[in-house]
This record gives sequence, structure tokens and C-alpha cells, in this order.
Amino acid sequence: MSVLYKRVALIGLGLIASSMSLAMRRAGVAGEITGYARSVETRNIARDLGLVDHVCESAADAVKDADLVILAVPVGAMGAVMQDIAPALKKGAVVSDVGSVKKDIFASVLPHLPEGVEFIGTHPMAGTEHSGPTSGFAELFDNRWCLIVPTETSSDAEILRLETFWQALGANTKHMDADHHDLVCAVVSHTPHLIAYTMVGVADDLSRVTDQEVIEFSAAGFRDFTRIAASDPTMWRDVFLSNKEATLEILGRFTEELFALQRAIRQGDGDHLHEYFTRTRAIRRGIV
Ligand code: NAD
Repeated sequence: MSVLYKRVALIGLGLIASSMSLAMRRAGVAGEITGYARSVETRNIARDLGLVDHVCESAADAVKDADLVILAVPVGAMGAVMQDIAPALKKGAVVSDVGSVKKDIFASVLPHLPEGVEFIGTHPMAGTEHSGPTSGFAELFDNRWCLIVPTETSSDAEILRLETFWQALGANTKHMDADHHDLVCAVVSHTPHLIAYTMVGVADDLSRVTDQEVIEFSAAGFRDFTRIAASDPTMWRDVFLSNKEATLEILGRFTEELFALQRAIRQGDGDHLHEYFTRTRAIRRGIV
């Protein structure tokens, strides 16, 4: 694949940015990659690992002359980072984010976008429960969805170039508007994380009574189900605060389903439970 952007700047050097850097090198789509992270420790690790071509001491330095800037910081930090880099962006640059929420990010970054710079949202639907610069790997996006969420500042030509870029990183792409994105992600990603965190909290609460044995003997089902509860607390705090409306909608629906199952168990309604599990198993088996 030929170079799509001469210079790409990564702001934030955690799981997603470090994986992007490795995948960009694998694909040969970036001429030069610069990077910046807020913490000195992260910058030093990125330097030691040779994660990007230049680790810069400020976000403004990293984005200078960049054709593509990727904001890969927690959702709650996007607006401040955009404000910080805005004066250093060159005309014709494209700024993009990889945040897990879209409406709130657009509201916080677009007011700071300078004339002559485009903003296109993206969300690679790929991740692990690990975070930080050492957790990245080039294959993270292979055969995963990357949702492309244009804004009113995005041109068709730049949307197409960014889409080609994500495909080169291994992802399948799909366009979505911000409202729909936030609702879909509340179902398939955000609420499941909240429920996983809650289940670990329930086990911990019970363990206080049973002398730690619930956690100690946690079975395969519990381990599989709660793997994502090992994810970064800052990232997930920001996701729920930013995607409040959609998460509360899905949580309301989840609670209704749960109450119906609770009632069926109390009433010994095996038919209801069997019919429910048969239907949901068929749906789950259809998901590869
Ligand atoms: P991470 O915790 O691994 O990395 C975050 C990075 O941002 C760190 O390098 C940190 O030093 C840096 N940072 C934090 N605040 C900053 C600031 N104000 N200025 C500059 N740098 C700052 O997180 P991640 O998993 O790579 O997530 C990054 C973004 O990608 C988040 O918005 C998240 O919602 C989104 N995302 C995450 C996943 C996932 O599963 N982890 C999946 C898709 C999208």
C-alpha cells in the first residue's frame, strides 16, 4: 500500500494509538509518525519501544505539519486537547478521534476547530482489557469494524481517504451518524462493561461474607463474563458520563428484561426461561 498521509500525529499513546502506529508501519500508509502523551513516563516508554518516529514534548509540537492528527485520549480529555493543538494545525489537515462516544466528543472539539481543518470521527470497535503504550499490537484492528462518523466539516474526499487508511490497518469500515453510533455502542459495548463491573462488585460484596471464596473459586463463566471489568477506569468513567442518554435507555431495557427473568424464576416458569434462552442462544450463536 502506498503512503496515504505524509505525516500522522498520535495524541495519547495508549492501547489504541500504539496499535495504530504498529499497524500503520505494517501497512506502510504513513510517511512519518509523531506522538505525544501527557505523562512523562508514557513518553519515555514510547521512546524506549520506538513506538513512533518522534516522541514530542508537547501536543502542539507533535501536530505541527501533520496531515492527519488522531486524538486517542480518554473521551473527557478530547475537548481540552483540541483546544491545545488548534493554533498549531496546518491548513488542510484532518483531525480525527478514536473515542468510544461521538455526540459528546463532537460537542467538545468542534467549537475549537480552526478554519481550513476538517474533523472526521472514527471508532475502531476493537480493544482489550489492557491499556497503556506497552499493550498495543499491529493485529488489533484486523477484521474488526471501524465506524466512520463524519461531521459537517468533513469532505467526501477526506472521508474516503480516512476510510482507505482504516482498511489498510485491517479494519472493515461502515458509516454511521453520531446519534445512531452512540445508541449502538451503548448496547454492544458500554452497557456490557457496566454489567461486568457490577458482577465483580456483587462477588466482592458476597466474598466479604464468605471469606474471599467467591473470588478465589471463580468459575470459567464468571471469568469469561467479567474479563472486560479489568479495563481502564478512567476510560470507562468518561464513556458513561459522555454517553449518558443512550446508556440510561439501554440500562432501562436491560432492567426490564432482568425483572421478567427474576419473576419467571420466582414463579417457577420454566417455559418462559426455556423460550428466552432458546431465542437468545440462537442470536448469540449467529455472532462469530
Ligand atoms: P489508554 O489508557 O491505553 O491510553 C490513553 C492515553 O492517553 C495514554 O497514553 C495517556 O497518557 C494519554 N492521555 C490521557 N490524557 C491525556 C491528555 N490530556 N493529553 C494527552 N494525552 C493524554 O486508552 P486507550 O484504550 O488507548 O483509549 C484511547 C481512546 O480510544 C479512548 O477515547 C477510548 O474511548 C477509545 N477506545 C478504546 C477502546 C478500548 O477497548 N480500549 C476501543 C475503542 C476506542
